[in-house]
Amino acid sequence: MRESISQPMDTVGQIFDQFQNMGHKEIVFCHDPSTGLKAIIAIHDTTLGPALGGTRFYNYTNEQEALQDVLRLSKGMTYKAAISGLNLGGGKAVIIGDPSQIKSEALIRRFGKFVNTLSGNYITAKDVGTLTQDMVYISMETKHVVGLPQSMGGGGDPSPLTAYGVYMGMKACARDVYGADNLAGKKIAVQGAGAVGEHLIKHLRNENATVYVTDISRERLNHVSAHYEAKVVDGKEFYDLDMDIYAPCALGATVNDDTLKKLKCQIIAGAANNQLADEVKHGEAVKDAGILYAPDFLINAGGLINSYAELVIYNNQRAMQATEMIYQVTQSIIEKSKNENITTTSAANKIAEERIEAAKALRAY
Ligand code: NAD
Repeated sequence: MRESISQPMDTVGQIFDQFQNMGHKEIVFCHDPSTGLKAIIAIHDTTLGPALGGTRFYNYTNEQEALQDVLRLSKGMTYKAAISGLNLGGGKAVIIGDPSQIKSEALIRRFGKFVNTLSGNYITAKDVGTLTQDMVYISMETKHVVGLPQSMGGGGDPSPLTAYGVYMGMKACARDVYGADNLAGKKIAVQGAGAVGEHLIKHLRNENATVYVTDISRERLNHVSAHYEAKVVDGKEFYDLDMDIYAPCALGATVNDDTLKKLKCQIIAGAANNQLADEVKHGEAVKDAGILYAPDFLINAGGLINSYAELVIYNNQRAMQATEMIYQVTQSIIEKSKNENITTTSAANKIAEERIEAAKALRAY
């Protein structure tokens, strides 16, 4: 299970208990007083390959909160890589502090040196609070970094591939629910017209879907309504819309007790991470309501697939083909969830775990 942890950990013993419960392999605490760096790198599992996951630079309330976040996120990366068919394990890093106050080239490069001590068992990438330029600084200290600009052989902005994967997952769901994956005429409500949301809207409008969009940014709304004729909806009215498909592309936890009372869609498929406020409770509630939920950690994996492509010689077309596989994987998840009468999230978790167990068995030979 990709369960999150909620209890604070007070003692070293409790921290080890938590590692054991969640199955982590290695946690590295990094400290450099001269640059103000305080970071934690968590490697959850490396059965399928080196642990890859972004570095989140965030002003956590305290170190415990940062530790809990990195443990949860790194475990999530193990499942995301496994379900996406990548030969990668799960890892993540957090840097503690307000990036607008403490980020410097020296701090980021010092962090890169810590990444380098892990000899490639952990590969870092961009996440909330870190930029492409930070990855460039890290690359000055270690080769174990992805998310570099295309001019440096990197994959550049992953958002177009993330959007393409969401689109593939959505089409696979449509095929199951409507008998065909054609989205023409479908009413699709996109929440968040950011980097991923815009590319998704482009694919949907190309297929003549009717797209409704909401965002807190007036500028983004003006942009997507002008370029793609998306119909702008006020945030307050969004969940009450008459929609076929809901695509959360802004925030997590938007599928919850309150929104489920209003949502009238047949499919939920979007890019946001952790869309179900409670993976088990709301996964079941969605299933009971007859809504097909495309597991977020599979259909938003295009960005990770883009990063993975960087580990060999980057080729955008190959990354795109690999992302297209999200369609077939979504279909197999739907089939398993029906056959076993379980939620799509449970089915995805099981497929990911089975792949990891099979790889462990292979090692015995
Ligand atoms: P982004 O920051 O470019 O866009 C997010 C958009 O959501 C912004 O336009 C913002 O104004 C809007 N927004 C914020 N709060 C909102 C609210 N309450 N209601 C409506 N709109 C709101 O981010 P992105 O890169 O497009 O990513 C979108 C989501 O997908 C995020 O949850 C991100 O974690 C997830 N994701 C992104 C990638 C990627 O490759 N970029 C990969 C995996 C997952």
